[in-house]
Amino acid sequence: MRVPIKIKLLRWVKIAYPDAVIDEQGAPLYGRTIVGNRRVEVAKDRHSGAEDLHATTLHEVLHLALSVSGHSEWLGEEREEALVTALENYLAPVLCFRENSVVSWGEVDFPWEE
Ligand SMILES: [Zn+2]
Repeated sequence: MRVPIKIKLLRWVKIAYPDAVIDEQGAPLYGRTIVGNRRVEVAKDRHSGAEDLHATTLHEVLHLALSVSGHSEWLGEEREEALVTALENYLAPVLCFRENSVVSWGEVDFPWEE
């Protein structure tokens, strides 16, 4: 499966696809953004297909964009999550990381691929 592995958001952001992603308490996550490292992680084990996976990748990149632009602070966690989820739901079907100059693509094997 072809997935975005880097996206240019002023500077390059690395996108990784580990088997699982967990929070500080060990709870499983769909994905997370590590702002200081300009890194997004999307869990392989929490997605059922390409559409789902691309939507989560976009979701995490939107979190990073709000953080890098300084809007996370005044939005607060709850409002940011609502805004990111709304944008993800409307933008993912349109964007879905089609081939373009700001995205670098790579091949990743997923558990649900035969
Ligand atoms: Zn989120």
